[in-house]
Amino acid sequence: MDFKLDEEQFILVNTLRRMGKREGFRDLAAKIDRTGQFPFELMSKYRQAGLLGMTLSPEHGGGGQSALNTILTIEELAKFSPMIAAPVFESSVGAVRVVELFGTEEQKRRILPGVCTGELSVSVCMTEPASGSDLTALSTKAVECPAGYLLNGRKTFITGAGEASHYLVYCRFNATPGFKGIGALLVEKGAPGLSFGKQEEFMGLRGMPSCDVVFEDVLVPVDDVVIKAGGFKNLMTSFDLERCGNAAMCLGIAGGALEEAKSFAMERQAFGRPICEFQAIQFMVADMAMKLDAARLLVYRAAAGAGQGLPSIYEASVAKCFANEMVVAVTNDAMQVLGGYGYSKEFPVERMARDARAWGVAGGTMQMLKITMASMIFGRRFDQRK
Ligand SMILES: Cc1cc2nc3c(=O)[nH]c(=O)nc-3n(C[C@H](O)[C@H](O)[C@H](O)COP(=O)(O)OP(=O)(O)OC[C@H]3O[C@@H](n4cnc5c(N)ncnc54)[C@H](O)[C@@H]3O)c2cc1C
Repeated sequence: MDFKLDEEQFILVNTLRRMGKREGFRDLAAKIDRTGQFPFELMSKYRQAGLLGMTLSPEHGGGGQSALNTILTIEELAKFSPMIAAPVFESSVGAVRVVELFGTEEQKRRILPGVCTGELSVSVCMTEPASGSDLTALSTKAVECPAGYLLNGRKTFITGAGEASHYLVYCRFNATPGFKGIGALLVEKGAPGLSFGKQEEFMGLRGMPSCDVVFEDVLVPVDDVVIKAGGFKNLMTSFDLERCGNAAMCLGIAGGALEEAKSFAMERQAFGRPICEFQAIQFMVADMAMKLDAARLLVYRAAAGAGQGLPSIYEASVAKCFANEMVVAVTNDAMQVLGGYGYSKEFPVERMARDARAWGVAGGTMQMLKITMASMIFGRRFDQRK
């Protein structure tokens, strides 16, 4: 077991830190939150730096990098803001990986190179207004027709919706209830019958495009089916890398908050001394660092275990769940260290606390992940319907 970054990873992390300083990412993060505008201008910079499609195969224009290198990248960039890390997340651990792992050669050729240049992106459409955790109850239907499939349904909380070029839609291909009737197909932006709802107003993650996606008799060619009915397990397994990406966002946000708390505690004076000299502050900061380090080890373990492929379901679930809880606790403590300034929008910590709260719901709730973990611990499935 080696807990050190190798030379390449060390260089990667330092390069990203220099990039953050050079490009003024700390100020950019505040601007994104203030304006609610996604930083699309980063795409060309990231393309040049080889940060798009990091995990995708070189054959399709990707970086062929390990899951761990990608996780380290997401973490470093998310220290400023999850929006600044989002292009790496979406192009390397997002739904595009499902296309790479299970799509046809033609689908890969059509989509992956464009994702690596930042021209294309794929949003995942799973959640429906009446089916979130209870995903296998989803009702979006693909009905066979002479030209392919007619798709009807509504998806909700879809990250990237309206902006993404492609939508990987989880849908029901036949009348078989539960997961057995579910597969996934691709819908291209601009397809007749595809429309978008209004932008979500979330508590945090400002700047992230997110809205409902509506399918009304959208004609999908047979060639755009990525996973046929019965392949639900593949869909969920490939989602475990996305879960590590989610956890890396938590590491980044918490790392950013810890940095802010540390600098503030060394500067801020009370009773004639910097507040870092008070034991109450020291213990709070030490607890923050301890929780962050523990989460980091879990996330790195899951990512290292994935190599160039997918992580174990158990390791990814434990890592995501722990990191989701950790980031809320750490950002909350960071606010406390900053006193009144922690509650002010003049300082980044209140934004980090708002951004922190999303990750334990996005990508599957902590409760659902604990059910997955429990079923592995007990070695039996717990059917939530019975
Ligand atoms: C920021 C953000 C980004 C998102 N991006 C996407 C996206 O890109 N694509 C997409 O498809 N979806 C996305 N989602 C949706 C997300 O996946 C769902 O919100 C999530 O799966 C929970 O579903 P729900 O909101 O319907 O809550 P519900 O499933 O209704 O759950 C409500 C509460 O009940 C709990 N609960 C439900 N069932 C059980 C049970 N059996 N045992 C114990 N507790 C239970 C849940 O844990 C939760 O606390 C996003 C959500 C957020 C907040």
